[in-house]
Amino acid sequence: MALWYDEVFENSLRCGLKVKRTLFSDQSAFQRVEIVETELLGKALALDGLWMTAQGDEKTYHEMLVHPVMTTSPSIRRVLIIGGGDGGTAREVLRYPEVEHVDLVEIDGMVVDACKEFLPEIGSAWDDARLHVHIDDGIKWSRRTDVAPYDVIIIDGSDPVGPAQGLFDLEFYQGCENLLADDGVFVTQSESPVLFRDVHLDMIRVMKGTFKNVHPYYGTVTIYPGGSWSWTYASKSVSPRDIIRERVDFISEFTEIYNEDIHHGAFAIPNHIRRAL
Ligand code: SAM
Repeated sequence: MALWYDEVFENSLRCGLKVKRTLFSDQSAFQRVEIVETELLGKALALDGLWMTAQGDEKTYHEMLVHPVMTTSPSIRRVLIIGGGDGGTAREVLRYPEVEHVDLVEIDGMVVDACKEFLPEIGSAWDDARLHVHIDDGIKWSRRTDVAPYDVIIIDGSDPVGPAQGLFDLEFYQGCENLLADDGVFVTQSESPVLFRDVHLDMIRVMKGTFKNVHPYYGTVTIYPGGSWSWTYASKSVSPRDIIRERVDFISEFTEIYNEDIHHGAFAIPNHIRRAL
């Protein structure tokens, strides 16, 4: 009999994949970590029963999280990633030869170890000497005074429950802004604009409480319930329109989704969001 793995949203919607076998399942100090092999999308990571990433779908998420900031920040030498324990975000960041140093701060060492072993296709850059992995709380890291400045800060965290809850607070965004260079750029995954509309809107409002420029942008990720997803770009001075042509041309050789047209189109804001803001 076929097995299904379902993410259940508010006891009213299921996002399920048919599973061939379970590759890893254990309880860490923070969450249940599972890697399963699915029929449709290859291997996939779930934390506490929520889909995080899947081989056949991850580019829609990782490319859209990473490249809008990397193609607009004047410098991309020093990058901070908070979360991102599957390694997909680091892989996309490290494609750029200008990147010299990446700190990846992931709270759960079990996610990193399990993904290194069972999902090396997504985290294919773990051995890059520019990557420095720290098993630590990103909220604590955001208060550090000895690591700034970063040119780019990327929040690849989970939903606002458990250890990720503080990644949605004003104090956290203020900490990140303090760590950011004056012409640097920040981005965070910012939940579904449909199913988590209130969380999404709150995030934008809270970010506006500290960053001068805040721009949500939109796309689709099949494995997240409902399929609609958002990310939010923030900066002290740079705009998402400030695209650096050579970088877009360079990265477009590698990407499956991201290109200059997708970049500009993604920043179009649906009317219901505009009105609510
Ligand atoms: N793409 C996913 C999404 O949007 O649902 C998120 C990817 S998953 C790799 C997110 C990671 O954030 C998890 O591995 C989790 O352990 C990590 N995380 C959650 N809270 C954190 C915190 N306070 N500091 C650092 N990492 C955290």
